[in-house]
Formats: sequence, structure tokens, C-alpha cells
Amino acid sequence: MKSILLASLCLTCKFIPHIVPFIMQTEKAKSDCSFIHLCQPDLCKSCGACCGLYNYADSGREALVRRLRWRTALFHEIVKDSENLEHFSNLIRGTEDQTRRYEVIYCCEYLGFLDPAEKRVGCLLHPLQNQGRDLRGVSFYGQELCDGHFCPSYHYLSSEEKRTLIAVIDDWYLYGLCVTDIDLVKAYFRLVSDGLFATPRPEKIKMEPMRSLVLKFFELKLVWPYRDPAVNRLGKYYFDGAQYMIDRIDYEALGCEKSRFDPIFLSLSSRFKSREELLAAEKIIQGHVDAFIEAYSSCS
Ligand code: SF4
Ligand code: SF4
Repeated sequence: MKSILLASLCLTCKFIPHIVPFIMQTEKAKSDCSFIHLCQPDLCKSCGACCGLYNYADSGREALVRRLRWRTALFHEIVKDSENLEHFSNLIRGTEDQTRRYEVIYCCEYLGFLDPAEKRVGCLLHPLQNQGRDLRGVSFYGQELCDGHFCPSYHYLSSEEKRTLIAVIDDWYLYGLCVTDIDLVKAYFRLVSDGLFATPRPEKIKMEPMRSLVLKFFELKLVWPYRDPAVNRLGKYYFDGAQYMIDRIDYEALGCEKSRFDPIFLSLSSRFKSREELLAAEKIIQGHVDAFIEAYSSCS
């Protein structure tokens, strides 16, 4: 159970071998033609969360771009054969800052950019990057886990939720943060579905202004004014050395009832200093939900 729980941290998906039954389950689903590939959904974005992308102490966009750009260039320059991989690994680990948010989770040095436009993050050891040679055997997790692992989002997000995220987000940094945040996606869908008395259809969400409205909501991950800036926070989790915990908002101390938006606030790593801040935050979320419901309802 702990493994599944840990695997639900977007950082840890490839951490634990106990997830094999889950892998087999997903392998079965993969043969289904309705299977939606969340890791590399299209040419405009991808996710690298379970390779440790967001587990660096500085996981801001600029820092990650610098890191991935440098190691991708180095990989193409010095890795001509599998024999060069150890040298590459030593160079990366010797020159890059290795400070992690959560020390238990590995940050893989082979995660880089897959395309010159730097739109997709992914594995530099993958056969598609190496003229068909699969080099993942040298990695920390090994070829089998790297190849076969599918995170809990594959299982828990509905087809509509997956297709919506893929349709509205074309930014690898934001996409990886959102596709792995099951609570945030589910809470948003629940709120808008309750307001519409139906599940919104991804085909319709792709149209404007719905697409922009959904994107604006998920962009709260990047611009949320009440986000706790602590390095040891990510989404609803906080870390203490080798321990991780789920945060809790102390509503009593704020003189309030538990907010109806609690799961969203936790996903956004919120820290409120006062009741007024909490009320203002609720207003922001309600505004996003209402705007979507109104646009969706008035669009035939
Ligand atoms: S979608 Fe899931 S399995 Fe794929 S890279 Fe992201 S966290 Fe890993
Ligand atoms: S070897 Fe590739 S797939 Fe495996 S953890 Fe590293 S970057 Fe990810």
C-alpha cells in the first residue's frame, strides 16, 4: 500500500518495484485502442515527473530549463556509445546541484529535452533517441521499470479528464505538474460537472473560450498568490528528510469552517495568513468555476 501511496507522489513513480501489478494492469489497458498516453501525448508537451523532474530543490522553470538544456547538449556531444554513459553520468552529477526536495526520490540525470524546440522532456536513453538502441539498462531504475511504469494518473483520471488536460495544456512544465495532480484535476472536474449537471465534453472544451478558461485555472499552479514558497513543499505534500506528509490547512486557527475548495488549496500548496486571505482565495476559485460553467452553457 505504501508503494501505491508513494507512487501517487508525482516524483516517485519509478521508485518502487512493488508497482509491478499496476504496470501489468496498465499494460493490458495499453492494448486497448482507447489508451491515452499521458507521458508523451503529442509533439507540444510531455511529462518527466516520475524521473524526478520536480524533485530538485530549485525546480523553478528557469532552473529546470538550464539544467535540461545543458545535459541534453552534453549527452549529444559525448555519448557516442553506451561506454560513454558512465562518464556522462559522473559529469552531470559532479557539476549539477544535486540538492533534492525529498531525499528518498532519485533525480535521474538522463532526463533531457527530446526535441530542438525544447517542447518535450523525456528520456535521453530511450531507443527513439538512440537509433533504436535501448540504453536504459544503465539507469538507476533499470530498463524494465523505466519502460513499464505508468503512474496512478493513468488509472485514476477519467478519459475526459486526460483528454481535457492534453487539449488545453501545451507547456511541459505546467503539464507535468497538472497531469500528476489527481486531486486538483478531479476537484476541478467535480465542481464544473456539478454546475453543469453533466460531465463537460473534451471536444467542446477544446473550443474557445472554454480552452483558455480551463488553462487559466490550471495555470494557478504557476501563479497562485497564496502558495507556500518553502522548498520542501510540492502540491499537497511536504517533506522532511526521508519522510513525507500531506499538509493540512488549520481552518480553526483562521476562524473558518473547512473550505469547500480544500483539495484545490492543498494541491496549490496554499498557506493562508488570515481569514480574509482564505475568503479571497475562495473567490478566485469560484470565479474560475463560474466563468467556465457560464461559457460552456452558452456555447451550443
Ligand atoms: S505521466 Fe506519469 S508515468 Fe508518465 S512521465 Fe508523468 S508521472 Fe511518469
Ligand atoms: S532512465 Fe530515462 S525513463 Fe528512466 S528514470 Fe531516467 S530519464 Fe526516466
